[in-house]
Amino acid sequence: MIHTIRHPRQHGFTLLEVLSVCALIAILAWLILPTLGAAKKEANRAKCATNLRQIGLALQLYTQDHNGNFPPTTHTTGSRHMEESWIYGLATYLDNIDEVRVCPADPAPRQEKIRSRKATSYSLNELVFDREEYRNIYRLPRPTRTLLAVILSENRSPSTGWDHVHCSLWSSWQNIINDVEVDRHRVGSRASDRLSGSANYLYADGHVANLPARELKKLSSSGINPGDVPL
Ligand SMILES: [Zn+2]
Repeated sequence: MIHTIRHPRQHGFTLLEVLSVCALIAILAWLILPTLGAAKKEANRAKCATNLRQIGLALQLYTQDHNGNFPPTTHTTGSRHMEESWIYGLATYLDNIDEVRVCPADPAPRQEKIRSRKATSYSLNELVFDREEYRNIYRLPRPTRTLLAVILSENRSPSTGWDHVHCSLWSSWQNIINDVEVDRHRVGSRASDRLSGSANYLYADGHVANLPARELKKLSSSGINPGDVPL
């Protein structure tokens, strides 16, 4: 008796099929990942601007309650306020200080340090907050063009001591990028020239501007100190 041997049809995938699927996945990832990166960047940039707007509003309310005077920084008060950043002076005017004081685009380990050290991602302009003649909102000649706060550079350790930056030294681009994360809102890592990206800036009338690093550098190159108090 002859038995016919039925060869079961082989199941599974051929190497070619597996490779095709892998290639397809790689192409999709290549198409989607930059879009996700850009979407995250936009979300962080918007959230950071919201933080700064709330800080701006809190500053307005604070000054109204203090005869126009701005809150003190560690520069003006020395070690007395070193245990927590200037921003804690605004706590009663902010809904959620722990949300507002951290830029969502700061790297996670840095955010962790900022939270635990009672610091903030946002640093104040020394030329306003630490100068007797301008430490009062009513004495600023041009609030719409007066810079109040920036995003502190990753070159600076997040600490209560860096609650203000020394804008009086911003005569060079190098000194500006030592103090300000001018490309905080970017996709990917820092470019070596620091020009691929933007940062948010708070002004004394409460408005927040998103300035590309390239534009800020242009200002700086033309001899303008963006931290100066315009007359
Ligand atoms: Zn100082």
